[in-house]
Amino acid sequence: MWRFVILAVLLLIVYFMVRSAVRGFLARKTQGGTIGAAEMVQDPVCGMYVTKEGSFFLQRGDQLHFFCSETCRASYEKKLA
Ligand SMILES: [Zn+2]
Repeated sequence: MWRFVILAVLLLIVYFMVRSAVRGFLARKTQGGTIGAAEMVQDPVCGMYVTKEGSFFLQRGDQLHFFCSETCRASYEKKLA
């Protein structure tokens, strides 16, 4: 019985170590203002998550808004007007 508990604890420790290592790697990758290919942003219209790469965007001042489709971008523009 104790073996299972120890094994579970060990697995948990390994899991957290791997997770923090992956996070550190991803944080380093997105440093310096470059847009990561897998960075997810929320569409303010429908709430869907889209990647910055290959999604529809709208520049407003110094802010960029990302959308899942042309339809969402158009309705967001309409809302602003
Ligand atoms: Zn959308």
